[in-house]
Amino acid sequence: MPELPEVEVTRRALSPLVEGRRILDLVHADPARYRDTERAVGRRILGLFRRGKFLLFRLSGGWLLVVHLGMSGGFRLQRTPHTRVVFRLEGQELYFHDPRRFGKFWAVPEAERCRVPLLCRLGPEPWDPAFTAEYLRQRLRSSRRPVKAILMDQAVVAGLGNIYADEALFLAGVRPTRRGTRVTRAEAARIRKAIPRVLEAAIEDGGTTLKDQSYRQVDEAIGYFRLRLSVYGRTGEPCPRCGTPIRRMVIQGRSAHFCPRCQR
Ligand SMILES: [Zn+2]
Repeated sequence: MPELPEVEVTRRALSPLVEGRRILDLVHADPARYRDTERAVGRRILGLFRRGKFLLFRLSGGWLLVVHLGMSGGFRLQRTPHTRVVFRLEGQELYFHDPRRFGKFWAVPEAERCRVPLLCRLGPEPWDPAFTAEYLRQRLRSSRRPVKAILMDQAVVAGLGNIYADEALFLAGVRPTRRGTRVTRAEAARIRKAIPRVLEAAIEDGGTTLKDQSYRQVDEAIGYFRLRLSVYGRTGEPCPRCGTPIRRMVIQGRSAHFCPRCQR
């Protein structure tokens, strides 16, 4: 599933292609999934922003087109067999590709953006000055859930999913199964610092394309961060720090990968 880095890489690639252009049509056959898109037609795209895992097209007239990529959604320059929405812009066509069809669109007036589920319940961005070690510690302390589940809660911090939560916890030396209440102040500070570090490195590498190939960049290049993953998807391989085989566990239905020696 695309996480913050994949959405940010998409935003950076699309921005120069869409900004300033008028939407001539949004062609699709699924009004339940791609909602009220006719209200976006005829408007100009003033800017492309990201909040957590959402892409926000700011449109003329005070409207937004909000896009969530879901499990396998992405934008392409060429039509694919799994194109679900054709973006006909002035002088540019884009294709929303989504084999598994979990991606969603909402066209809403900016003032009603909270009608988009979860959008207004997101916690701070990882680079937000409000995302401090003390803030994170308070959020961890008040929860008996495993620390990995807390980090993936979009209301705590926006944008982390399965891959980058595992990677950040490896960098911080904290085991994903540890309960939030048992995380020390020093560990919370290390986790706080590790999160933007991991995300920045992943953005630089174009995100992470796993073996399933579900994520690709807009120009269909893969995301090379897979080569730099320390623990995610590396069960049984040696820990890059100490050589101990990486272990995998299931926490609340999701897999977690960690080094049993470096992460206590
Ligand atoms: Zn290790």
